[in-house]
Amino acid sequence: MNLKESQTPHGAALNCKGWVQEAALRMLLNNLDPAVAERPEDLIVYGGRGKAARNKEALELIIKALKNLEDDETLLIQSGKPVGILPTHKDAPRVLISNSQLVPKWATQQHFDELEDKGLMMYGQMTAGSWIYIGSQGIVQGTYETYAALAKKHFDGNLKGKLNVTAGLGGMGGAQPLAITMNEGVCLAADVEEWRIQKRLETRYIDEIAYNIDEAIDKALQYKKEEKAISIGVVCNAVELLQRLIDRNITPDTLTDQTSAHDPLIGYFPEGLTVAEAADLRDKNPEEYTKRSYTTMAKHVEQMLELQKRGAITFDYGNNLRGRALEVGVKNAFDFPGFVPAYVRPLFCEGKGPFRWAALSGDPQDIYETDKVILELFPENESLKRWITMAQERIAFQGLPARICWLGQGEREKAGLAFNKLVAEGKVKAPIVIGRDHLDTGSVASPNRETEAMLDGSDAVADWPILNALVNTAGGASWVSLHHGGGVGIGYSIHAGMVIVADGTEDAAKRLKRVLHNDPAMGVIRHADAGYDIAKDTLRKHRLGLD
Ligand code: NAD
Repeated sequence: MNLKESQTPHGAALNCKGWVQEAALRMLLNNLDPAVAERPEDLIVYGGRGKAARNKEALELIIKALKNLEDDETLLIQSGKPVGILPTHKDAPRVLISNSQLVPKWATQQHFDELEDKGLMMYGQMTAGSWIYIGSQGIVQGTYETYAALAKKHFDGNLKGKLNVTAGLGGMGGAQPLAITMNEGVCLAADVEEWRIQKRLETRYIDEIAYNIDEAIDKALQYKKEEKAISIGVVCNAVELLQRLIDRNITPDTLTDQTSAHDPLIGYFPEGLTVAEAADLRDKNPEEYTKRSYTTMAKHVEQMLELQKRGAITFDYGNNLRGRALEVGVKNAFDFPGFVPAYVRPLFCEGKGPFRWAALSGDPQDIYETDKVILELFPENESLKRWITMAQERIAFQGLPARICWLGQGEREKAGLAFNKLVAEGKVKAPIVIGRDHLDTGSVASPNRETEAMLDGSDAVADWPILNALVNTAGGASWVSLHHGGGVGIGYSIHAGMVIVADGTEDAAKRLKRVLHNDPAMGVIRHADAGYDIAKDTLRKHRLGLD
C-alpha cells in the first residue's frame, strides 16, 4: 500500500458509498496517522501493542471492503482481520468487530502470544482496535476529570491553593501536571528520567523543571500560598521526594503516583541508582533489579500511608503499586483507595463517561463549532466550561480534530442530536463521528480497575459489557466492538466499544437518540443493580428501570 492510500481523507467528498462507511474508513486511518499512533509502521496505535488491524494485508482488505460496502451490508472483523460481508439493513451497524476474545480457561497471556505468533489474533487494546483513538487528549481529560471529582468531593470544586504531589511523568502520567493546573492547583511531580520532564516542558504539559528537591518544595509552597496554578517536575526518585516532605513535616493536600509500578523490571526505578546504573543492573542482574524495585515500592507505599495519616488525600492511580507492596509484606497497602472507587464511580453512577467526537472534514473550525454547542447546552457545568476553554488553549489536535468531555445520562443524546443538526444545517463542513473510550460506565468488566471493589462483589461479572455491545448493535450504532484484555492485560478485562455517525439525516437522528440514550443507560443500570444510591436515583430520574 502506498502512503497516499494510507492517509486519512479529509473534506466533504466521499470515497465510500455512504458517510457511515466513510467514517469507519477515516477513523481507521486516523488511528494509524503518524501524528496519532505510537508505531504506525507496525499498526500499533497505543498501549503497548494495541493495534488497529492485524497486519498490512488485513488493513488493505478492510480499506477495500469499506470502500465497496453498501448501506444494507455489515462487514465482520475478527481480531483485526476482515472475514465476511453479510446482508443487514440501513439501521444496522456497518461494521461489527470482535478483538482478542478467548475462551476463559485459555485466556492467558502465554496462549494469546502463541496465537498472535501464528497470525491468528490481534490485541485490540480499547480504542485502538475499535477505531476511535484520538491521541493524548483522552488521558489528559480523564485525569482532569478525576482531579475535578476529587476537588468536588474534598474541596470547593477546584484545587486553588492546594499542593498536589505525584510521580511518574511518562506516556500516561505526563498528563497529571496539566490536568492539575487545569483544575487550578499546584503540582509537584517526581520523575527519575530528566528527558521525560523535558518532553512535557516542550508540549507545555508541565511548567518548570527542578533538580534540587528542597528548592522544588519551597517553590511549590510559594505557589500554593499565592494560589498560582503552576506545575514543577523534579528530577529524582519518588521516594526521595516523599522522604523530604515527611522529614520537613510538609503534608501535601493530595497524593498519588503514576510510576510504572505494574512492571518492576522495565517500568519502575529502585532508589539509589542513576538512570544509567539502573539500565546496567537491569541488563546484568534482572533478579537483583526486581528485588530492589520491590524494596523501593514497599517504602514508597509506606511513605504514602504515613502522609495519608498526616492528612494527605491519598489514592492509587491504577498502576498496581499497592499490589506490589502487599506482595512484599506491606499488609495495610490497600488502606488508600484506587481512583475508580474513590472518584470515578460516582460519575459512572450518573452515566457519566468519556464522550468524544471527531470532525471528519479535518477542519479544526468544525470542532470549535461543536465546542460552542456544548457550552450552550450545559451552561451550568463549570468544570466542563473550564475544560473546553483550557483544551482550546492547551491541547494540540492530533490527526482529525477531535474533542472529549465527560457527559452523563440524558446529556450525551442531547449533544449527539445537536451535532447532527449542525451537520444538517451546513454549519460544519462534513459529518461528525461520536464515540467513547471503553473505560466507561456500562461497557467494561475489569476487576483491577473499572470494577474494583463493587458494592455487591460483582467485580468480575462480564455480562454487562456484552449486553452493552448487543444493545448498541440493536440500537443502530455505526460500528460496535467487543474486546478482551484492554488496559490491564489478557485475562483481566472484557469491554465494548461504540461509535455513531451524525451525518445530518433524519435516520441518523433516530439512531443517535436511541444509541446515546441506551449506551450510558447500561452503566446506570449496572451500578443501580450493584446497589449504588446515585445510580438508583439516576435510574428513576431517567426511567431506565423495570417500573
Ligand atoms: P511510562 O512507563 O510511560 O512512564 C513511567 C514513568 O515513571 C517514567 O517516566 C519513569 O521514569 C518514571 N518512574 C519509574 N519509577 C520511578 C520512581 N521510582 N520514581 C520516579 N519516577 C519513576 O508509563 P505511563 O504510560 O505513564 O503509565 C504509568 C502507570 O500508570 C502505569 O503503571 C499505567 O498502567 C498506570 N496508569 C493507569 C491508568 C488507569 O488506570 N486509568 C491511567 C494511566 C496510567
